[in-house]
Amino acid sequence: MNKIKTELQVIVNPVANRGKSKLLFEELTYLLEKRGIRYSCHITEYPGHATLLTDKITYKNETEILLIVGGDGTYNEVENGCFGRKVKLGHIPAGSCNDFTRELGLWKGLDSFLDSVERDNTMLVDAGRVNNRIFLTNIGAGFDAQIIHDMNVRNLKGNLAYVRMVFKNLFGFKCFHAELSSLEKSFDSSLLMLTINNATTYGGGFKIAPLANVQDGMLDVCLISSINKAKFIINFPKVYSGSHLGLEEVIYWKTKKLKSNLDRKLPIQVDGELLPDRLDNFDIEIIPDAFRVFRF
Ligand SMILES: [Mg+2]
Repeated sequence: MNKIKTELQVIVNPVANRGKSKLLFEELTYLLEKRGIRYSCHITEYPGHATLLTDKITYKNETEILLIVGGDGTYNEVENGCFGRKVKLGHIPAGSCNDFTRELGLWKGLDSFLDSVERDNTMLVDAGRVNNRIFLTNIGAGFDAQIIHDMNVRNLKGNLAYVRMVFKNLFGFKCFHAELSSLEKSFDSSLLMLTINNATTYGGGFKIAPLANVQDGMLDVCLISSINKAKFIINFPKVYSGSHLGLEEVIYWKTKKLKSNLDRKLPIQVDGELLPDRLDNFDIEIIPDAFRVFRF
């Protein structure tokens, strides 16, 4: 007999990871029925829809459990729809990138995950906020956002495509000047890219902020200043292990709040999705213990 008394809500992005999320969703519904857990499903139909669905599901603040079948993009939309509400979130990693969920431990499959839900095995995690938008993994401006822009235009996904786009942009991207101020450190110089991280990885395992922790109440700033292209190519693989921090072009610190002023409007990626407008200034802060999520 299951211990969940209320109807569990499920948001599904059926096109995540080129439709592979549907298989996980089918397995999930089979297991929920086998366990006698009542549930209700909500299918996303367009980008941004998960935020609207989540807002509708949680606005009375009565929903106890909301499960998400999708990737980081869907997860981001859900968190933007229920920030400040008491709902507990469970992410079933069904996207091409599931970087935030990887921070919570090793995925051991749906059965094990549902055990965790039934045992009410949760933890509090931080989120970041850029202007009024919540983020889970990171935000980036400059070189990396340009890569995501190019990947979106070509409908490319995954690590290999990311690496291809890195090399394509390496010779075309013009560095920008940034003035950054935080309590811990100020920075005023030229940059190739700027990232502010809640999670250690993004882009499907790209370990940009190896010292990040989603429970430490801090954001990890990782900047890469102008770098010689040959040196960039030689050192690029270091980002997979997080050993890039030793390079003199990498500037890294932890902060709760950061103000950014850039010398031109740049594309900004938030959890792998581009903001609709390019920005040349933005404020970022940590929101400690922003969400309660199920462990694996
Ligand atoms: Mg942190």
